[in-house]
Amino acid sequence: MKTIIKALAKEQGFDDCRFARAVQAPHAGEYFAWLETGNHGEMTWLGRDPARRADPARVLTDAKTVLVVAMNYFQGNNPRQLKGKIARYAWGADYHDLMLRKMAPIDVYLQNNGGRQKCYVDTGPILERDFAATAGLSWQGKSTMCLNERLGTWFFIGVILTTLHIEADPPVKNRCGTCTRCIDICPTRAITLPYQLNARRCISYLTIENKGPIPVEFRSAIGDRIYGCDDCLEVCPWNRFAKETRETKFQLPARLEILTLGQLALLNDDEFRALFRDSPVKRIKRAQFVRNVCVALGNVGTREDGSVLMRLASDPDPLIAEHACWALEQIRNREG
Ligand code: SF4
Ligand code: SF4
Repeated sequence: MKTIIKALAKEQGFDDCRFARAVQAPHAGEYFAWLETGNHGEMTWLGRDPARRADPARVLTDAKTVLVVAMNYFQGNNPRQLKGKIARYAWGADYHDLMLRKMAPIDVYLQNNGGRQKCYVDTGPILERDFAATAGLSWQGKSTMCLNERLGTWFFIGVILTTLHIEADPPVKNRCGTCTRCIDICPTRAITLPYQLNARRCISYLTIENKGPIPVEFRSAIGDRIYGCDDCLEVCPWNRFAKETRETKFQLPARLEILTLGQLALLNDDEFRALFRDSPVKRIKRAQFVRNVCVALGNVGTREDGSVLMRLASDPDPLIAEHACWALEQIRNREG
């Protein structure tokens, strides 16, 4: 059964497929302690019934095995890029739908063998990274991200809980060693200690999960990033082994490459929705997106961006207006 599932996963384009026993997540205690610190910020769903999140049997009665798949999304060293940085994982198609579609044939195979399953990509009440580590698919680096010897850090994880018993794989060793590059590079000091992330300081959180204003103390450090941050991944030495993905849908569409920050800032609701229809970026609303673009313009914009920002400074949405005013002030201070 294991051999057939691995072959099915490969056929669907997954780069790895491993198995863990569906027991309590080994780092459940650390997870509960992290929640106590409040460092998950506005991501309140993470704190909802954490005991359930750590125990697959509470999510799927009689769960016996956690099957973990990985899909490489590394677009290579000379990819198409947007003006204004977007985290690599969000360049192309929405991976949630794409991965779930590719996991479906595995689910069907398990059903045909008498299993009941639950399939998740990111959104399930399960500590995916912990199970990926137990299954030997990856280890959790000091950045708190998953690392795989072959894929580096550039991969998505999908999880299938099943009631079928399938032999577990051995875990892999943590190979971060004495390296601290991810901690040292972090522009906002969000990795407070090895394996400890204060999400409230992280640019990914500030530009995606955070719905309100971006605290002024972090705005300069955000630079020209408009959705997420990859700094702690870009510097990871394990990424030197990363190979370009076979999935072309993870490339940035050409229609996005040509847009300037000024044009992105002036998108209306319909244009924003149409432009990012198939992208993970659609997760945030236009107001949050324009807020992020204003911060980027404040950091890298010039006098030429002044007219765009002036228009946004009187936007009826106070979130946009305040960030546009901040950006204007930055450009004025820089260029006189
Ligand atoms: S994503 Fe960026 S801000 Fe967040 S921990 Fe990594 S380097 Fe720091
Ligand atoms: S940058 Fe270094 S410490 Fe950080 S995850 Fe990669 S190997 Fe581990």
